[in-house]
Amino acid sequence: MDWSHYFFIAQIIGTRYLVLAGIAFLLAYVLLRKRIAPVKIQPAFPKQKDYTREIGYSILTIFIFAAVPILLINNDSVRPHTQYYTDIATHGQFYFFAAFILMLFIHDTYFYWTHRLMHHPKLFRYFHLVHHKSTNPSPWAAYAFHPLEAIVEAGVVVVFLFVMPIHKLHLGFFFLFMIIYNVYGHLGFELYPRGFSRNFVGKWINTSVNHNQHHQYFKGNYGLYFLFWDRMMGTIRSDYETFFEEVKSK
Ligand SMILES: [Zn+2]
Ligand SMILES: [Zn+2]
Repeated sequence: MDWSHYFFIAQIIGTRYLVLAGIAFLLAYVLLRKRIAPVKIQPAFPKQKDYTREIGYSILTIFIFAAVPILLINNDSVRPHTQYYTDIATHGQFYFFAAFILMLFIHDTYFYWTHRLMHHPKLFRYFHLVHHKSTNPSPWAAYAFHPLEAIVEAGVVVVFLFVMPIHKLHLGFFFLFMIIYNVYGHLGFELYPRGFSRNFVGKWINTSVNHNQHHQYFKGNYGLYFLFWDRMMGTIRSDYETFFEEVKSK
């Protein structure tokens, strides 16, 4: 185990989380709190103990996520079996950019199905209950997973490395986007415009309102970036679009 490398990766993941969730929190929950409180998705603000729990579990998650590249890429007995590559020219620039789109769909699919699995009554308590303790999530909830769930979430990197050619910049940029979207998903405020949940693009894109409902009601709205799976499997909440409009007309 290369510990210096491990702590270096943990530092990157941790800094991204603290800075991004921190900025969102500072803006929406401190500086603009009074002014934007009327448009909050759920009117109440979480309690101090909720923030503490969310940050505590998120820090655990960061240390679990950081182990993944060390165990898979910095490991001479595993890396040769993966599709990890170091020279962008090997697969060309077109592939380099197209891969991000592919990663979005793979991660969305992976997340939807593992998420539904973790809602199974036999598994929920052990894997997913911690994340659902935030019934009114804050940006700090972005990584608030039980360690077992964090391992499941990290599994998508295993999928990436074995199903498609992956460069370290793919992982770096993709997971930067992921944490930004996750902070938005748990923000407690909706940033997309009025009418978005019903228009021909927004119909398929996951929103903060959508994920907030998942936290409030536990049932329905299991997606991450998109709503394809929720719409296809009939798991989208029937009150989603009306509630989205209700939030946006506050
Ligand atoms: Zn969540
Ligand atoms: Zn859930």
